[in-house]
Amino acid sequence: MITIAKSLAISVFAATLAFAGCASVNQTDTESLTLSELGKPAIGVVHEDVTTLIGERDNLYSLAALTLVNRDWQAGSETRGHNIGSVLVDNATGEIVYYARNSNKILASGCQHGEVRLVTNFLKCEGAGPYLHDYTLYTTLEPCIMCAGMLTMTQIGKVVYVQQDPDYGYTQEIIGSGNYPIYYREATVNSNFKQLLERGYKQSGDSSITKWLIGEDAHQIYNDAELALLNYKPVFEDNNAVYDKVIKFLDKELPEHFNDDMAAQCPTGKFKEFY
Ligand SMILES: [Zn+2]
Repeated sequence: MITIAKSLAISVFAATLAFAGCASVNQTDTESLTLSELGKPAIGVVHEDVTTLIGERDNLYSLAALTLVNRDWQAGSETRGHNIGSVLVDNATGEIVYYARNSNKILASGCQHGEVRLVTNFLKCEGAGPYLHDYTLYTTLEPCIMCAGMLTMTQIGKVVYVQQDPDYGYTQEIIGSGNYPIYYREATVNSNFKQLLERGYKQSGDSSITKWLIGEDAHQIYNDAELALLNYKPVFEDNNAVYDKVIKFLDKELPEHFNDDMAAQCPTGKFKEFY
């Protein structure tokens, strides 16, 4: 874990935010500190600038999450689930250590969101758990309240989403405004793909973001995001290693696994043995 000047954290604590969709704080370098060092994060999403070191890094992993979804794009009525997916990054190594996509339909279960599938199955892996302090989750759509609750209870350090969900979002703010002793820091990178997705859904007039996310307009943006990632040249030298890890992840076949087959994605290829 990289240590940085803790004075930077003061700006986070100093930021008092209203519980509103526009609530935001400026980017800081506080993510290198653990939640226990930081205490409670400020309520509200941090809008990161893509032209900063951390913003570029978080943009690369966010593009990896978009690409994960694009690689198994769902269209029509017979689908695995919604076009939403997540990747988990080990902060110490920068490796993408797990992934999952929404599988609500194929499993006929309204709780099979990508984040739930990722966290519950990763925590079954040998050597993992019980908490996720030193991990960052990158997800294509802002977590819903179910996932936000799970991410809080597993004490994840940070969550980064791409597209804001005006219908089921603002969930870190909801939990943060309650009396929980801990909750995660949340960020989003102000990338052009984020803007295209958010503007596209707003202008579509669709009543459901998941419905819009099976459409061709959304698919085109996801395709463009994958192409942009594959052709990306990091601006910050320190992010060359991040880019290499992202490409190493995307070089693998990334099928959606189910049940015990999800052990194949574990760092050791195995789930824990239970007794
Ligand atoms: Zn969810």
